[in-house]
Amino acid sequence: ARERSARAARLESLGQLAGGIAHDFNNLLAIILNYADFLTEEVTGDSARDLARIRDAAERAKSLTGQLLLFAKREPTEVETVDLNEVITDAGELLSRTIGANIRLVCRPCDGALPVSANRGRLDQILLNLVINARDAMPDGGVVVVETDLTEVSAGEAIPLPPGPYARLTVSDTGTGMTAEVRDRLFEPFFTTKPADQGTGLGLATVYGIVGDAGGHIGVESTPGIGTTFQILLPPAAEPAGQPAGPAAALCSGHG
Ligand code: ADP
Repeated sequence: ARERSARAARLESLGQLAGGIAHDFNNLLAIILNYADFLTEEVTGDSARDLARIRDAAERAKSLTGQLLLFAKREPTEVETVDLNEVITDAGELLSRTIGANIRLVCRPCDGALPVSANRGRLDQILLNLVINARDAMPDGGVVVVETDLTEVSAGEAIPLPPGPYARLTVSDTGTGMTAEVRDRLFEPFFTTKPADQGTGLGLATVYGIVGDAGGHIGVESTPGIGTTFQILLPPAAEPAGQPAGPAAALCSGHG
């Protein structure tokens, strides 16, 4: 447990550092984009094309710093009651198109609804990041399974969450898996094993930040040559005001 909290503290300070840099860069990029816009009205021909390239690169840099700011929790988002099952069902088509023909996507929402308190856009982002990573880990094809259920964290378990019911999102793949060294570092911002033009190392750092914001927990199990499973636990949404508080287990059957 001590090792875990040391890691959490390290990620926290890395996040603050990255967030500070991202914030300053964002301001500088805004200035660059502003002046590029002024110039766009004045230059023509080859120079206009060069200017467009400068603008494009600055826009890309801005979207990267935006991701960093999200990881550093500097951008508050609206929290609503969202059905996790709806999130994974709605994302199915986009995900199928993202993963390519040699990978099979299996989507298994549990029965009923699985309401959590979170931001819908951020949940989409979690899912997309995990599924893209699964795809990248299966260059020769394979299967990615996205499933949900309601689970129970009991006192004394290794998971650093208060005991109680949790909505669980599991994304598993039959990919390359990863070594213990990679597993230890994969939530660090900028940690990537992918070529520079393919990986930023911000995907899982962002997921980690989002899950933490939502009062949840993310865990990973991976075996080289066999595959990887990510598990995300999120506190179920409180019953809407005025509604009788039914047992959480009634929200989603088939858990255990
Ligand atoms: P990126 O995808 O840009 O590299 P991430 O933070 O999403 O950044 O992932 C960090 C690293 O974790 C990846 O480069 C990869 O080495 C490892 N990783 C993440 N997901 C998986 C997976 N499903 N299977 C194998 N390795 C993974």
